[in-house]
Amino acid sequence: MRPESLFPLFAPVGSLKGVGPRIAPALEKIAGPLVRDVLFLAPHNLIRRPRRSLAEVRPEETATLLVTIDEHLPPRSRQQPLRIRATDGAGRLDLVWFGNAARGLEARLPVGSRRWVSGKLERFGLDLQMVHPDYVVDEGRLADIPEVETVYPAGAGVTPRMVRRIVQSALGRVPDLPEWQDPAWKAGRGFPSWREAILALHAPEDEADLSPSSPARARLAYDELLAHQLAMAQRRAHRRAGSGAPLPPSGLADAVEAALPFRLTPDQRTALAEIRGDLASGQRMSRLLQGDVGSGKTVVAMLALADAAAAGAQGALMAPTEILARQHFETLAGPLEAQGIGVVLLTGRDRGAGRREKLEALASGTAAVAVGTHALFQEEVRFRRLSLAVIDEQHRFGVGERQRLLDKGEGVHLLSMSATPIPRTLELAAYGDLDVSRIVGKPPGRTPVATRAAPMTRLAEVEDRLVAAVLGGAQAFWICPLVSESELVDLKAAEQRALDLKARLGDRVGLVHGKLSGPEKDAVMGDFAAGRIKVLVATTVVEVGVNVPNATIMVIEQAERFGLAQLHQLRGRVGRGRAESACVLLYDPPLSDTAQKRLDILRRSDDGFAIAETDLELRGGGDALGLRQSGFPDYVFVDPFAHRDLILAAGDDARLVLARDPDFRTGRGQALRVLQALFDWRPETGMKGA
Ligand code: ADP
Ligand code: MG
Repeated sequence: MRPESLFPLFAPVGSLKGVGPRIAPALEKIAGPLVRDVLFLAPHNLIRRPRRSLAEVRPEETATLLVTIDEHLPPRSRQQPLRIRATDGAGRLDLVWFGNAARGLEARLPVGSRRWVSGKLERFGLDLQMVHPDYVVDEGRLADIPEVETVYPAGAGVTPRMVRRIVQSALGRVPDLPEWQDPAWKAGRGFPSWREAILALHAPEDEADLSPSSPARARLAYDELLAHQLAMAQRRAHRRAGSGAPLPPSGLADAVEAALPFRLTPDQRTALAEIRGDLASGQRMSRLLQGDVGSGKTVVAMLALADAAAAGAQGALMAPTEILARQHFETLAGPLEAQGIGVVLLTGRDRGAGRREKLEALASGTAAVAVGTHALFQEEVRFRRLSLAVIDEQHRFGVGERQRLLDKGEGVHLLSMSATPIPRTLELAAYGDLDVSRIVGKPPGRTPVATRAAPMTRLAEVEDRLVAAVLGGAQAFWICPLVSESELVDLKAAEQRALDLKARLGDRVGLVHGKLSGPEKDAVMGDFAAGRIKVLVATTVVEVGVNVPNATIMVIEQAERFGLAQLHQLRGRVGRGRAESACVLLYDPPLSDTAQKRLDILRRSDDGFAIAETDLELRGGGDALGLRQSGFPDYVFVDPFAHRDLILAAGDDARLVLARDPDFRTGRGQALRVLQALFDWRPETGMKGA
């Protein structure tokens, strides 16, 4: 139940002064539906400061200036504006009004009078102009113009000024809430109270107040992190309290392992031991297995699935795409079936009698392992005794989707897998409710992929080399990015590239993209995997997991547009066999300094975790997309880079609280309930339920 002290914050935005039925939906889009969301909208800029002479201002800035009215230029037609020339000794400024707004101004601004004007400056020929100034006041009334003004995000139907007014009215509703932060910690950090922090958030006095490390913003970020860490720690405790089917390490899995044509790497061995520890414990496992593409996660999962089968239970391996599910099936079916473990592949393409047969095999238990796509958690799919769910590329599934699979059995163990490396510093925020195993080292026999960056101006040269290599028997990926707003435009670019290459290589070139149907995609991928196609031109559908060991060349166009983690993953498609592999990152020059450094990291390093860490530092946490792909929550106040030390502190804090006061009975515990209720707002971040 929501504490009464929060009621004013959980009122709809429509209850605020000046928010009518027209503004409310627009405001909801930029902030959210509640008064709280408006208060959580952080200003991102300060304007109107300092006042300078016209000699010092630039177009596009919002400034406050003292000027003398020089000349009136009335409109010569209905379409033309009233233009009032002004000067400040250093330069000239035209004040401009259109239509009705111009009415009466000539009388109010007589030639020779002096006025403070404030507004956004634009270039007008060689001079500057200010169209519809925000303020025009008499010389003695400077105080009427705010010295600094906060700038808020705005959207269609709401200007920054409207947002500011609405925020001001919401500030009247900020309650005093009980302090939930540990007093010593709060004092040590110099944090204000929650209420003071919200007020300060909206009253910045200088640039330092806008920084994520200002005391107010850091406090709010810590609150958000603590609420999230508590929720994750509780969820984890809850899962652990639930019993899991005991699945002890089995001779059957050992037999599967012994029959493999290779030996597990030390990291694989450690990960498997950690998983087996969980599976045998009688408690429910919630574990994430992290490792680069090709690091050998699937093999580890396979052995865990064999343990489930050996215990008379069933396991399911779910992948986000048809292609991946098929590859997993091909990897697993041989080794498992050789030991008498039945495996079925279930995807959206199964129909009719074939599908019924597979469903029957799962319902009766004759198949101990199911590999599939989203098809696995559909209503009609029943298991005789599902005890282990493995979810590949877990961030590609919603929390609800994962849960629907888990709900198909009792006490089902969860093994999530991710090939999107996340910096260690952020792991706690992204996966605080999971235990994490990492595979860092690669299987032996891989040669590092020689990576280089080249400007698009050298495209012809890159094509020549690719053609020569392909004629010599090599296989290659050519990735065209999804960059424009329109998928069609991107598709055209990819089609054109395929045509260019076909002109030289004929039928050896294939094209896959998101608009193809599952069977069409599979057909092309199948041809590529079988070597019938030598060059696969692709939009980013090959993003995850696809395994074609013969491919040794990867060309990525407009590489500067990709997140580093994604580039690293794409590069992971090659270098899977013993042959030398190459990756060419084509970019549109000129490259910014940061972009240059980012591409350089890829040339120097092959360690996904290290790459992710450096990327974070280089961009100062700016790679929102890349981070979200890797499962980092979409926080309001938290800046992944600036607040990384707070992430760790909040994790420790949450664990300590739950160890000492799991039911929130103490005074601080009561206050923490308020905190949790305050942030209990977006289920998709995993902060609620699930
Ligand atoms: P991931 O799921 O992490 O992308 P996979 O499990 O698909 O990686 O492994 C990639 C390839 O490496 C597969 O062909 C697999 O057979 C092979 N492989 C896995 N582990 C080893 C190992 N220890 N030694 C040699 N090859 C391995
Ligand atoms: Mg994989």
